[in-house]
Amino acid sequence: MRKHFRKYYEQASRFLSNDIGIDLGTANTLVYVRGKGIIINEPSVVAVNQKTGQVVAVGAAAKKMLGRTPGHIIAVRPIVEGVISDYEVTEEMIAYLVDRAQKETRKILGPRVVVGVPSMITNVETRAVRDAAMNSGAREVHIVEEPMAAAIGARLAVQEPGGNFIVDIGGGTTEVAVLSLGGIVYAKSLRIAGDKMTEDIIHFAQEEYKIFIGERTAESIKIAIGSAYPLKERKEVPLRGRNLITGLPEEILVSDEDVRRAMERSVRQIVNEIKATVEETPPELLADIMHRGIFLAGGGALLRGLDTLIMKETKIPTRIVEDPLTAVVRGAGLVLENLDELRDVLTETENLEPPH
Ligand code: ADP
Ligand code: MG
Repeated sequence: MRKHFRKYYEQASRFLSNDIGIDLGTANTLVYVRGKGIIINEPSVVAVNQKTGQVVAVGAAAKKMLGRTPGHIIAVRPIVEGVISDYEVTEEMIAYLVDRAQKETRKILGPRVVVGVPSMITNVETRAVRDAAMNSGAREVHIVEEPMAAAIGARLAVQEPGGNFIVDIGGGTTEVAVLSLGGIVYAKSLRIAGDKMTEDIIHFAQEEYKIFIGERTAESIKIAIGSAYPLKERKEVPLRGRNLITGLPEEILVSDEDVRRAMERSVRQIVNEIKATVEETPPELLADIMHRGIFLAGGGALLRGLDTLIMKETKIPTRIVEDPLTAVVRGAGLVLENLDELRDVLTETENLEPPH
């Protein structure tokens, strides 16, 4: 009888309210709505009017404003290096996302929300995220750590006793985690990831060719020809920027080898972190991982040859999860759809001690 009622209640609430999964990444913010899929996929940028403190734009619109608006409008990234950099902006961002998801689907009741947060986030920060979602009208808020969400998004068997090894290489951080029995056995966050590789290319152009290039140019070079392991065929792209000495525009050709060399140190640091984690993994779990492999998620996973390099260095098969940029938000969505079965993967946020 009770089961019957529960099923009825579930169906009614699905009809009246939304289920929303949110991935608040350092580089990209994604929102998943049950029944609709991913409805928001935008850069994690908020434009704030410094005079009034008001949020002027969020996401792609905010990013476009960068460098094109009067001085008192500044762009803020809510999450920097895996921690909340600005609580107010983070709250505004979450409110905006929930509001947009609500508008798109016109439901009566407040939504149930699952938010993915970096694994190194503090209890105070977790609670701030939770409160922000509650204040924006959510009926229920659940928090899941990003490596866990990424693993669920990749459909790894996270609740079974075996070990799972996941590496999420985002914009600001690389998270390396070992999961088992629905929990995180070990997690480490490294402040070197995709954006550092982009910076490496900017520095390389400056030092090697005395050419100044912007972030967007450097990122597109990275995506076009960047690699972590020698490629089968040589790749080249034009690098266009301003000569630092003459002040005039200049164009040169750069090769995959140049770019690989530029990013080598950062890539090496990520690989070393993975190796250190492998070395610290308890033998029982390691046996599972050697069999199942290392899984790469996040935009950085798309760097050519990174899987090959990690495999060579760790001697463990390494694969990229399907659609690595959306793994976390899809995982958050799966948590919503299977809240009863997956409840133990959630981070507890209630009954916390007040901050001292
Ligand atoms: P976050 O979760 O921190 O928001 P993402 O998982 O969205 O980060 O990844 C963003 C990072 O991935 C950026 O640094 C971006 O340059 C990088 N990236 C995206 N696509 C590629 C690609 N094809 N090759 C290499 N790096 C990529
Ligand atoms: Mg991420």
